Amino acid sequence: MYMGRKCKYCNKVLDYMEEDEYCSLECKSKSERFLNYYKKWKVIFYSMILVFIVLLLIPAIKKGNGYFAAYGLGGVGITLFIFPFSTPQGIEMYGIRKAKFIVKVLALVSILLTIFIILATRYNP
Ligand SMILES: [Zn+2]
Repeated sequence: MYMGRKCKYCNKVLDYMEEDEYCSLECKSKSERFLNYYKKWKVIFYSMILVFIVLLLIPAIKKGNGYFAAYGLGGVGITLFIFPFSTPQGIEMYGIRKAKFIVKVLALVSILLTIFIILATRYNP
């Protein structure tokens, strides 16, 4: 398998002679838009994640506060859905487009799981 450089956005293998990090201008501008979005929102993103992780951990410290965990999980899901930021390793491995997609799928799973937990505990207290 050819292990050449790949487009940072769509992960397509780049031609040997290509100097750029992207396969097209479209990928380049989409990538720039994503990185600007990250730069603009990262502080809010990390703050929200931190708050929701604290919520997630409350039941471990104080028993009988299980619903905090559900809200924490839902909060992480919603945050990741609005800000689908992956790790640099994830972006390196999959390209920005696919990494973003994977994060959004995981976010949706967390949101659905939260809804399920809230409904389940409501009907079977
Ligand atoms: Zn590309």
